Amino acid sequence: MIKEKCIKVAIVEDFKLTRVGLRCALNANIDIDVVAEAEDAIEGLKQIEKNKPDVILMDLGLPQMNGIEAILKIRESDKDVKIIALTSHDRREEVVAALSSGANAYCLKDIDPEKLAEVIRDVNDGVCWIDPLVADLALKAIPKIEDTSIVGNSASSQIKVPLTEREQEVLKHLVSGKSNTEIAKELIVSVHTAKAHVCSILQKMCVNDRVQAAVKAVKEGMV
Ligand code: CA
Repeated sequence: MIKEKCIKVAIVEDFKLTRVGLRCALNANIDIDVVAEAEDAIEGLKQIEKNKPDVILMDLGLPQMNGIEAILKIRESDKDVKIIALTSHDRREEVVAALSSGANAYCLKDIDPEKLAEVIRDVNDGVCWIDPLVADLALKAIPKIEDTSIVGNSASSQIKVPLTEREQEVLKHLVSGKSNTEIAKELIVSVHTAKAHVCSILQKMCVNDRVQAAVKAVKEGMV
């Protein structure tokens, strides 16, 4: 594969063995290229600025500046780079802090390397992903639907076009934290088709992304 087509990944992780393991596992994928590594956030920010990765794997437990602060810092100047929070913690506060600071995904460190590669591809394509092991923590932490800053006022957030049976099925998988690739596998359709269903669901539900869709689905008892 031509190098420019690779997804460029940066790893910010203080534990050397984890960092090296991640690099080796990810570079084994023909479409993923680890272009930068750092053992703390300060160095990470420099490396990111210099190497312009597409996707950043950000450990949260880092010395001095922690991963959440680093994500906030990155988001001050870059809204587009994809950030995957990578952590061994499954505490609600940490999941919520990571996502609300601008991470696109939240991964536990015991994730299978192949799955992590899949998540990197999906996140690079604009998908948000929360490790299914912590997805319910994130959902439970979301304020009730009365908080109109998140889901819009309830009148305008009513679903006007009903979801098809297939879309309801896709929505269920989406709420359980499955990626497009996984949904495609479950439904025995192409990833392209799964993506198309997700797009249609987002439009019908009047939400911007799958996290909002999942929140709304749970709050409105759609699944
Ligand atoms: Ca760490």
